[in-house]
Amino acid sequence: MGADSPKVLVVEDDLQVRRFLRTALSVQGFGVVEAATAAEAMTAVTTACPDVLLLDLGLPDGDGVDLTRQIRQWSSVPVVVISARGREADKVEALDAGADDYLTKPFGTNELLARIRVALRHRTRSEGGSDTPAIDLGPLHLDLDRRSVLVCGQPVHLTPLEYRLLTLLARNAGRVLTHRQILTQVWGPAYAGQTQCLRVSMVQLRRKVEADPARPQLLVTEPGVGYRMREPQAGMDAVQGRSTAQRGDAVPGP
Ligand code: CA
Repeated sequence: MGADSPKVLVVEDDLQVRRFLRTALSVQGFGVVEAATAAEAMTAVTTACPDVLLLDLGLPDGDGVDLTRQIRQWSSVPVVVISARGREADKVEALDAGADDYLTKPFGTNELLARIRVALRHRTRSEGGSDTPAIDLGPLHLDLDRRSVLVCGQPVHLTPLEYRLLTLLARNAGRVLTHRQILTQVWGPAYAGQTQCLRVSMVQLRRKVEADPARPQLLVTEPGVGYRMREPQAGMDAVQGRSTAQRGDAVPGP
């Protein structure tokens, strides 16, 4: 493992889950630092300078959402939240507090690595500052200079609002955005709670860019949370994750 391998801070009080994460990440060449409490996590963020955090929301001495808020006051380190299925409200709260993404227990190694890769890449991109003139995602091509959109090489005509919605999701490809985040950035802060506006526009946008709008391959719904532009590679990982996942290859459920 080289000195420049990314370092992951695993914040999780469940020893079994922590061991699984340590093993899965070490095998892939990541450096791993562990914290079992919110207090340990705060210390480790400052002393270990991790490249990314994996953060369990339920900690014995505090809440992962509060911890995210605290960290965000002075650090932009990517935070991937780990949470149980059915806790969508918690995930939304964590994302709106500044977390970058989430993993739902139980999850497999491929899903874990895909989320970490996306989080690390978006950090690098935002640090780099320079914007990309074009985005390619499978059949979708966005020319950001010309404000043109091609699907399978064919021009697609979008309203200005649909274009803003598509480019926001494409710039964050692989990453989940909450309803509130999308509404605030595309419609404006006054619309933060107008989820129905977003649903209607998403239906229209999918009709224009998805081969089968009823089974979207690009603009994926994250139930109860928001939307995610799926990356071609991440999509393949997810499929592989499902087909090859076996007992012992997945983090235990709650
Ligand atoms: Ca826990």
